[in-house]
Amino acid sequence: MQCAEALRVQAYFDGEVDALAALDVERHAEHCPECRVLLEELTATRARMRSQLEFPGAPAQLRTSIQRLLDAETGAARRAAPRARFGWSGLPLWLGGFAAAGAALSAAVLLFLVAPAATGPLLDDLVSAHVRSLMPLHLTDVVSTDRHTVKPWFAGQADVSPVVADFADQGYRLVGGRADYFDHQRVAAVVYQHGAHIINVFAFASGRQPLPQYTSRSGYHIACWKLGNLQYCAISDTGWDELQALTRLLRAAGSADLPRQ
Ligand SMILES: [Zn+2]
Repeated sequence: MQCAEALRVQAYFDGEVDALAALDVERHAEHCPECRVLLEELTATRARMRSQLEFPGAPAQLRTSIQRLLDAETGAARRAAPRARFGWSGLPLWLGGFAAAGAALSAAVLLFLVAPAATGPLLDDLVSAHVRSLMPLHLTDVVSTDRHTVKPWFAGQADVSPVVADFADQGYRLVGGRADYFDHQRVAAVVYQHGAHIINVFAFASGRQPLPQYTSRSGYHIACWKLGNLQYCAISDTGWDELQALTRLLRAAGSADLPRQ
């Protein structure tokens, strides 16, 4: 009899599930021999097909005409694209919303207003890395809820050794870790799950530019803080309160760790 998860495993293999579902499948396969075999068979079949099937190439003329159409289309899209909503160029528009939001405006938003524009590229890198991690099979390089597995893993994979802790009791489950590369360094990403949300906590050697404590970009909330000589940034589509609660836990855990490091 086939395991009830077999269909989901197939979808996972095809890259059709989101990061959370992928995580579920990976956890399931760890304990289900049947699904592990299924994954191995699928992998082997794909490898065989890739090595043995012949792919006839499209004629050069067809290729060129498609490329020309695509170029024309992206050019048109670029011309029609509105200015970035969160960019500094959008400030006046944004201030209209500012007045409307009135008292609901939090300190986080005020900090966003005074954030130096020079940190923009780094914040873009953070958002890109977060979004990339949510694509199938990109969330974690090491899957574990055990900080004693995740923390040492970074030693060989990242340029920094971040605070790693499991806050499952407080609703923030440690899912694993991942190495990313931006700002000319191998950045450590510790991954937490909070309800249906994934939170990436990036850690990297702090640069010259101070990052805003709280900011939003492309619809994601970003909270940044420094601890020792490391810069931390947590990013998620979860609410501000939820994100701040995790940063408080991490700061406390990190401060407790510091004297012994
Ligand atoms: Zn199974």
